[in-house]
Amino acid sequence: MGERISGGYDLNLFVSPPDCALLCSVCHGVLKRPVKLPCGHIFCKKCILTWLARQKTCPCCRKEVKRRLMVQVHKLRKTIGRLQVKCKNSQAGCCVTCPLSQHRIHLDSCPFEFTPCPNAGCMARVQRAALAEHDRSCGHRQQQHCPLGCGATLTAVERENHNCYQELREARGRRRAQGRALDSVLRHRRRRIHRATGLTRRQLIQLETFLEEEEEEGMDVSNINTEAPRAAM
Ligand SMILES: [Zn+2]
Ligand SMILES: [Zn+2]
Ligand SMILES: [Zn+2]
Ligand SMILES: [Zn+2]
Ligand SMILES: [Zn+2]
Repeated sequence: MGERISGGYDLNLFVSPPDCALLCSVCHGVLKRPVKLPCGHIFCKKCILTWLARQKTCPCCRKEVKRRLMVQVHKLRKTIGRLQVKCKNSQAGCCVTCPLSQHRIHLDSCPFEFTPCPNAGCMARVQRAALAEHDRSCGHRQQQHCPLGCGATLTAVERENHNCYQELREARGRRRAQGRALDSVLRHRRRRIHRATGLTRRQLIQLETFLEEEEEEGMDVSNINTEAPRAAM
C-alpha cells in the first residue's frame, strides 16, 4: 500500500480505548477532522484527501467518490473532542488528563512541554519547568527594566514570571474570557434568530420597528401638544 498515512490521533493518547466507531479505517487512529463520503463512510480529512489523490474510490466500499460531495461531520468532531486524553508529555512525567479539545490549551502551560527560550537571539528549546534554570546560564540573557515601571530589571524569562506583569496579564485574560463568553452567547442568539426568521418574518420586524418609531415620534408630538397648555394653566 506504499507509505502509511497517519492523519488521526494516536490511540495511546486516550485515557480509555475509544469506541471503534470513532476510528479511521485508513490510519487506524481516532478520527481527526472527520469527513463523510456520500457512501456514508467516515475518515480523517487528511487521510481521505491523501487517499483520493491516488485513487477515486472509497477505501472501505470502493464506490466512486466525488470530492465535492464530501462533508465535515461536526457533531462527531465534538464527540471526539470530549474524549479524555493524557498529556502528550505523560511519558516525561505529566499526569494531566483533559478533554482532547483542551489538550492544546494545556500544553501552553504544561511544565513538561518544550518551549523556545524567550531571550532574544537564543535558539534553545527547554522544558518549561527548566526555563528559569536555563535562563541563569543562557548566553542571551539581557536584562531590561520592567515595562510597567516597577523598577525591576528582568530577562525575558523572568519577565514571564514577574508578578507585576502577571497580575495585569491575568486581569486582561479574565477580561478577554468574559468578552469571549459574551461573544459566543450573542453569536448563538444571532444564529437562532437567523434560523427562525424567513424573509417575511424579517419584513414584519422591519415594519414593527418602523411603526414603533413612528409611534414614539407621535408620542413626542402629542406630549408637547398636551403638556404645553397644561403648563400654561
Ligand atoms: Zn485517519
Ligand atoms: Zn464507502
Ligand atoms: Zn502536560
Ligand atoms: Zn536561552
Ligand atoms: Zn514590574
